[in-house]
Amino acid sequence: MYCPTCRVEYREGFTECADCRVSLLPGMPPPEPSLHFDPNLDLVVILETNNRIQLALAAGLLEDAEIPYFVLGQIATLVTDVDPF
Ligand SMILES: [Zn+2]
Repeated sequence: MYCPTCRVEYREGFTECADCRVSLLPGMPPPEPSLHFDPNLDLVVILETNNRIQLALAAGLLEDAEIPYFVLGQIATLVTDVDPF
């Protein structure tokens, strides 16, 4: 059993999510939608930057417009954090 709203798993015998007050669904929660990558999606590059502020700004705009997006190459940011020079 699982809650379709918060995705918490419950044992058999429960019928309602204690947090969300919604009926539980049988089985296991489906995988996160973000884990599903549709290879037919037409991805477009809208921004290439090393500037974290620009990146956050772009991400914020996309979120406001409810446009799904992927950020690639974030590992480069991690490396920059270790050695800024
Ligand atoms: Zn819930």
